[in-house]
Amino acid sequence: MRQSEGSIVCAECSRLVGINEERCPYCGAWRPGLFGWAPFLRSLVGARLDLIVLITGACLTLYALALLLQPEAIFASSGFLSILSPGGRALYQLGMTGGIAWELGWWWTLLTATYLHGGLLHIAFNVMWIRNLGPAAAEVYGPARTFVLFNVAGAAGFLLSNEMSGAPTIGASGAIFGLLAALIVYGRKRGSSVMTQQLWQWAIILGIFGFIVPSVNNWAHGGGFAGGWVAAHLMGFSDEHRESTRVLLAALALIAVTAVGIGLSFYNVTGILLAE
Ligand SMILES: [Zn+2]
Repeated sequence: MRQSEGSIVCAECSRLVGINEERCPYCGAWRPGLFGWAPFLRSLVGARLDLIVLITGACLTLYALALLLQPEAIFASSGFLSILSPGGRALYQLGMTGGIAWELGWWWTLLTATYLHGGLLHIAFNVMWIRNLGPAAAEVYGPARTFVLFNVAGAAGFLLSNEMSGAPTIGASGAIFGLLAALIVYGRKRGSSVMTQQLWQWAIILGIFGFIVPSVNNWAHGGGFAGGWVAAHLMGFSDEHRESTRVLLAALALIAVTAVGIGLSFYNVTGILLAE
């Protein structure tokens, strides 16, 4: 997996450099070959590991897990919006965020809550949006940047909602608003007004939708949109700048922290329940 000799293309300046160079002789980028791991990382993120599929796969897997963890809750709630809703305990075990988690110092729930959903309609709706917007964002920003942006936007939304409302909250919609914002930023910079108008329309309709449908976390939507907007401005487009190894590493680190975070929530919540 590790390449020990030969050369690679520097992610910063796209010139050929030795794999073991400490600094790129052209642009000064630090460790362009990442100790020989850069080619493996590059082939992993993108070719072998589709991050958009990973996002939707994680959402669906955790939804199923949440239902299985608390089967008695599945048919407990009634109403169209709560068809096949996981129970609150199961959701806390898998990393739901909100005022309680925030006060306990469970900061990782800002990441884990993005992958949890409160019902069949909630997850179907969000997975549909991720499948629509995700590949488009991955094409213009690159898959690793899109993954980082998605998670940063989701976390920004939950941070705002934890500070402002403290309601227990889950769902990828804040992160989806971040993807919308990122595509609007791209459309504006590239002067594609048709695309930008269409995206604004979706963002506004979805935003209004949030105020009509009960129990939607509008703070998370607003925070996600703002987070995505800021993150998009900090990232380059893939046609002008290749994704740096730092972004690839950030994406892998986010995956690791999210996975460990789910484990931490599970351990903590189960511990509290057993102590009761
Ligand atoms: Zn370089």
